[in-house]
Amino acid sequence: MKKFDVVIAGGGVIGGSIALELSRSGLSVALFDRQQPGQEASWASAGILSPAPESPGMVSMVPLGRASMALYPEFVAQVEEISGMSTGFRPKGTLEALFSHDTNAELSTIIALHNGLGLKAEPLRAEDARELEPSLSEEVEAAVLRPEEASIDNRALTAAILQAAKRRGAEIFSGDGAKAIWREGKRCAGLVLQNEKVEANWTVIAAGCFSATIDGIAPYAPVRPAKGQMASLRTDDVKIERVLWSEKIYLVPRNDGRILAGATVEHAGFDKRVTAGGMEKILAAAIDLAPGLANARIEETWAGLRPASPDHLPILGPTDIDGLLIATGHFRSGILLTPITARLIREWITEQRVSVDWERFSPLRFSVRRE
Ligand SMILES: Cc1cc2nc3c(=O)[nH]c(=O)nc-3n(C[C@H](O)[C@H](O)[C@H](O)COP(=O)(O)OP(=O)(O)OC[C@H]3O[C@@H](n4cnc5c(N)ncnc54)[C@H](O)[C@@H]3O)c2cc1C
Repeated sequence: MKKFDVVIAGGGVIGGSIALELSRSGLSVALFDRQQPGQEASWASAGILSPAPESPGMVSMVPLGRASMALYPEFVAQVEEISGMSTGFRPKGTLEALFSHDTNAELSTIIALHNGLGLKAEPLRAEDARELEPSLSEEVEAAVLRPEEASIDNRALTAAILQAAKRRGAEIFSGDGAKAIWREGKRCAGLVLQNEKVEANWTVIAAGCFSATIDGIAPYAPVRPAKGQMASLRTDDVKIERVLWSEKIYLVPRNDGRILAGATVEHAGFDKRVTAGGMEKILAAAIDLAPGLANARIEETWAGLRPASPDHLPILGPTDIDGLLIATGHFRSGILLTPITARLIREWITEQRVSVDWERFSPLRFSVRRE
């Protein structure tokens, strides 16, 4: 049986980028996916790169998001250069539209919150917002511009990361998933696959919302799927430059003219069906934000499963089983957090230290620590 320095379970953006980062450091890496890699959450995503917190509970993730955002331009350049593929990176900022009647108070609260977290945010009057984004509804009363945010074509990014990892020597196996971790006493010796075992010094679990279905992983990564439905629209009548947000929806322009609208957040198990109710919510909110979309063609609809941890924060780092690391639970921010996740896992494996404090995201926070 072949032995590797590192084996990874899961070939989405997270597993793929870890494989790339580690093989670039000269380690031998094997990645196993139970199906064709890159077809789950990383495919279904919207690809918005925004470290701004969506709720007070997410504030502790802001430093990690900022660190990842800072790495993004160089990360994209490397992935594109190694893979020879484009990723559709759009560092053009995002704009949050406010419909409220009390917009002045709301604006100053949002700006103060962002600035306090070190995030750049500028208030805009409605007319200035519509000058930047003429498709915005006449009902918009004010807006917040976040000039340092961005978006990326997550499908293209995932494919490019996997291609780059292969070109740097990572071995990628499709159609063979991990059943369990291979335990030898207090050590993890690798993965138990469908019909064989694969041995490694380090084992990384990056199987997204499916991570807890691998035997031995649930205590460290009790993730469950959070379904998100999306639609892709196209029309010559609406031109959007930046990602647009309202309270109910986001619209994400792609370089090829598509406008993505999303997304629902539903707890429906592993169900990926697109529903009439889900589409109704998304399309109504999209038209409220940019009325010209009423005539847009619906090109595609889909749903994907975000990996959600109990506190909605990522699960990153070593466990109390020697050699076993977890990298999942990225919930709504996995595309944003890809470069920093790959960097931190590589640092831990090659140097046993990390450059950003990740204690808050420890896989040991869900279980009583065992001595
Ligand atoms: C609708 C939607 C919109 C989103 N929008 C954004 C956004 O705008 N910005 C953002 O940053 N994030 C967003 N996200 C979240 C982001 O997409 C995820 O956090 C991220 O893709 C998770 O990546 P992953 O590699 O951990 O998981 P996945 O991409 O789900 O990959 C997991 C892989 O593991 C494999 N696998 C499963 N079981 C096994 C096994 N037993 N053994 C081996 N392999 C296995 C799967 O086949 C899959 O390939 C969105 C997600 C959704 C669904």
